[in-house]
Amino acid sequence: MNTLSFSQLQQEFPFLKNGWTYLDNAATTQKPLCVLDAEREYYTTYCANVHRGIYTLSEQATEHFEQVREQVRKFIGARSSSEIIFTSGTTQSLNLAARLIAQRLNVGDKIILTEAEHHANLIPWQLIAKERGVQLQFLQFHEDGQIHPEDLSTLMTKKTKVLACTHISNASGYMLPIQKLIDSARECGLFTIIDAAQSVPHIPIDVTKLGADMIAFSAHKLCGPTGVGVLYGRKELLEQVEPVCGGGGMISEVQLTSSTWTDLPHRLEPGTPNIAGVIGFGMALQYVQTIGMNTIQHTIEKLTQYALKQLSSHPTIKLLGPKNHSLQHGIISFTVNGAHPHDIASLLSEDHIAVRAGHHCAQPTMKYWGVPATVRASFSFYNTTKDIDRMIESIQKAQNILV
Ligand code: PMP
Repeated sequence: MNTLSFSQLQQEFPFLKNGWTYLDNAATTQKPLCVLDAEREYYTTYCANVHRGIYTLSEQATEHFEQVREQVRKFIGARSSSEIIFTSGTTQSLNLAARLIAQRLNVGDKIILTEAEHHANLIPWQLIAKERGVQLQFLQFHEDGQIHPEDLSTLMTKKTKVLACTHISNASGYMLPIQKLIDSARECGLFTIIDAAQSVPHIPIDVTKLGADMIAFSAHKLCGPTGVGVLYGRKELLEQVEPVCGGGGMISEVQLTSSTWTDLPHRLEPGTPNIAGVIGFGMALQYVQTIGMNTIQHTIEKLTQYALKQLSSHPTIKLLGPKNHSLQHGIISFTVNGAHPHDIASLLSEDHIAVRAGHHCAQPTMKYWGVPATVRASFSFYNTTKDIDRMIESIQKAQNILV
């Protein structure tokens, strides 16, 4: 495992020299210079559209773009690069997944989600439910703050067709028992869709071993640019579905009233993609792999457990999430007695500490916890325990002002 040097990280991430303690990595991570350089190189030396031109610049852009698809394939252990669809982010990936799967649903069918979902894996299904006359059901949190895979069998009927769930909750860092959920769902012949926005950036993931049909994540939570995401889809499934968006670059032949499609993955990527963003993402993947995903996982695990331990000794701070803290990764959520989370976040901001306050696009989770909002701190490999100590010191200061 690599040892991370903070002074080297400061060279690579100029942001880390600006005096801020950045603890909102679940929202987006900082970007290393090499990612910006890769985008700049594309824009300044071989800027051209992809998959279209016959001239060498366009061929060069296409080659770089397609190389990133291959990098993503290797990074997540997919079998074929046609299983990698570029999107604008997890949200678009999950909407695309829902629309593709909806082609296989009939009126009266049932979809199972969990109470732990980010709105991005809830609202697309609500829209589908309304349009297609299908019903949503939920795996609920138990007393221990966990989702129990055994509950799947109690919800399951012949009409159940889909399990769509998050791998790591963005509200609490709770790691769901994802393998058990996928295995049980597959045994019953369900389609499985995983929101991996908070897991792919932190944990080595092998999509082929996981065995889900579709997996969504964003580049910007993995040191990459905003506006780029991935939908991994099992090839056999993607081959059987019709495109849900149309435009240039996805066709084989077009007539006035009908068209035929080109091969995967292009058939599901109409229009000009975020070329610079994808190229930047390729550099981000190279960068995190140089650090090592095991080092990243281990570093974030240690920071999470340190933060949970420090905060749990404060009688006025209430931690939210699973009772078993070892199930949390990368994210912690808490409230401070007598203080609104927004006030805490504003006062921390005065000390140049960035934490998130709000419902974190997970209102059903907030409802389960019985709070409208929490303070959320989320970690990346470039954070240190000093960042957490600074946050706790600033919370104490804020409490003295507010309470
Ligand atoms: N799902 C989860 C679990 C997330 O944390 C996020 C980002 N907060 C999303 C989906 C949506 O990702 P994006 O905003 O990049 O589309």
